[in-house]
Amino acid sequence: MQTQTAERFRPFGTTIFAEMSRLALEHNAVNLSQGFPDFDGPDFVKQAAVDAIHAGHNQYARSPGVPSLADAIKKRFTERTGLDIDALAQVTVTSGCTEAIAAALLGTVNPGDEVILFEPYYDSYRACIAMTGATPRFVSMKPNNGRFIFDEANLAAAFSDKTRAILLNTPHNPSGTVLTRAELQTIAKLCTKHDAIALSDEVYEDLTYDREHISIASMPGMAERTITLSSLGKSFSLTGWKVGWAIASPELSAAVRSAHQFITFSTATPFQHAAATALTEGNAYVSKLREQYRTARDMLAEGLADVGFDVTLPEGTYFILAEHSKISSRLGVSTDVELSLKLTSEFGVAAIPPSVFCATPGLCADYLRFAFCKQQSTLEEAISRLNKING
Ligand code: GLN
Repeated sequence: MQTQTAERFRPFGTTIFAEMSRLALEHNAVNLSQGFPDFDGPDFVKQAAVDAIHAGHNQYARSPGVPSLADAIKKRFTERTGLDIDALAQVTVTSGCTEAIAAALLGTVNPGDEVILFEPYYDSYRACIAMTGATPRFVSMKPNNGRFIFDEANLAAAFSDKTRAILLNTPHNPSGTVLTRAELQTIAKLCTKHDAIALSDEVYEDLTYDREHISIASMPGMAERTITLSSLGKSFSLTGWKVGWAIASPELSAAVRSAHQFITFSTATPFQHAAATALTEGNAYVSKLREQYRTARDMLAEGLADVGFDVTLPEGTYFILAEHSKISSRLGVSTDVELSLKLTSEFGVAAIPPSVFCATPGLCADYLRFAFCKQQSTLEEAISRLNKING
């Protein structure tokens, strides 16, 4: 039968995350592709959700979010950025950051506008830009001593009179780059010069190892032109709860809400109450998780390097982007897509081919993305399977 899918979605197919997790299941592979923990979130947050259900918090929430959660998000944001905000007017709770990205783009961008995004990009960014009818402009991030970074002149050249927004992600999935103050300043200056807004996806903000996370909203002149997007999932190992949020000026928040009210209207009420508990009482959990991930990162990096990958430690996120040319030439394949299929089906380890996050052909094709948000035993099993590459 002829495709029934609207033209705007045809170029995107099925997301690589669903595709690779399906393949991993089919081949009984250790799944280091889709980024989700293979362990459970903290009991005190799960208990808070159960309590909220029993307390009768089961009808639609206020569309922009339950006040106690908006308040907890505000306090955390103010502590981190020094910016004082009005929780009820400036925080919008969404169904995961993925909805926050969609609502932010649909709420602020007109057909014919241009939106700048860094490649490799998280796959939903490009699909959401397509939904707005805007034109994406890509700026490549390339390795510089192993650290993926953009070129300032290329970024400046991507801005024009038509630029409505730039979509950034720090800490960056898949490269692990945590943008420095100087890099954020470069972006901020261009936004101000071209009167563009910044949509900043900061879902890995708590998962930094060697560099401090900075919100671009805290840079001079940016508070009024930034929509800061984040979520509960990565910091509390509860990716399936899908609680996210957007923080912005009252005017930009009104734009986000204009879309959010017609996408989901509101987010699951008991999980919002539990998220408020997590953010208010969760600092000790998050600090422990960060140290657990630092250990997992170092262990996976060492294991991958022993197998023959060229690895640079990521500054943040729970991903390692590993250069595979030695491995792929040994196995007689060339691209990341070919290698990821071979590793999944023949060696039983699934990873993401990051070229699917790029518009420029070949960019990132020499890399594979491995997730380390897994138990030590899972990572050990993956490394032991990969070692079979060397006989
Ligand atoms: N953010 C997760 C990752 O990058 C995937 C989320 C999803 O499956 N849509 O792996």
